[in-house]
Amino acid sequence: MVITQMSGEECRAFLASASLGRLGCSRDNQPYVVPIYFAYEPDFIYVLSTFGQKTEWMRANPKVCLEVEEIANESQWMSVIAIGRYQELPEPQYTAEREHARTLLGKRYLWWQNALGERQIRVGDHAITPLFFRIHVDSITGLRATEGSAESGKAPEK
Ligand SMILES: Cc1cc2nc3c(=O)[nH]c(=O)nc-3n(C[C@H](O)[C@H](O)[C@H](O)COP(=O)(O)OP(=O)(O)OC[C@H]3O[C@@H](n4cnc5c(N)ncnc54)[C@H](O)[C@@H]3O)c2cc1C
Repeated sequence: MVITQMSGEECRAFLASASLGRLGCSRDNQPYVVPIYFAYEPDFIYVLSTFGQKTEWMRANPKVCLEVEEIANESQWMSVIAIGRYQELPEPQYTAEREHARTLLGKRYLWWQNALGERQIRVGDHAITPLFFRIHVDSITGLRATEGSAESGKAPEK
């Protein structure tokens, strides 16, 4: 197996084709990671979100990251990490951005919206009213593993 760095262009193309990732945030030196659906276009990651621990933490500390991977098998995979800053998109200031996010999120938006509606009816909890946020992406890195051996695949000499 050979592990190589992905170019910025490859990372962006991968993020644009993906829809499920792991959002990382932290507060008071405690990390917190949750799976989320997202839509990416340079240089923003859009998310439809419940209000809860992650949004409270991201309000307190907007430095966040998103990890996305595709694993064919243990020696063929891609993993991309985007680092950036949380920004909430409330109405009415961000109506156009919310509409844009809805369009980008497409089917995922409808699926998640229905799931939320259903949960809200069952729980009767208005705290789960959804909100939109986006991440301003400051940097992206990616690693790709492919089958085969590197030319320099020998063990390093001591
Ligand atoms: C495939 C998939 C896609 C998802 N897409 C979205 C999305 O697009 N937007 C979105 O907002 N949410 C999505 N979720 C749900 C998300 O992972 C969180 O569970 C949810 O957003 C609540 O997070 P919260 O921080 O607001 O937790 P809260 O509702 O505040 O929950 C409090 C506690 O519950 C625990 N908890 C919360 N979420 C999880 C979890 N996923 N696993 C284990 N423990 C948990 C935590 O320990 C936390 O302390 C998705 C989940 C899955 C599996």
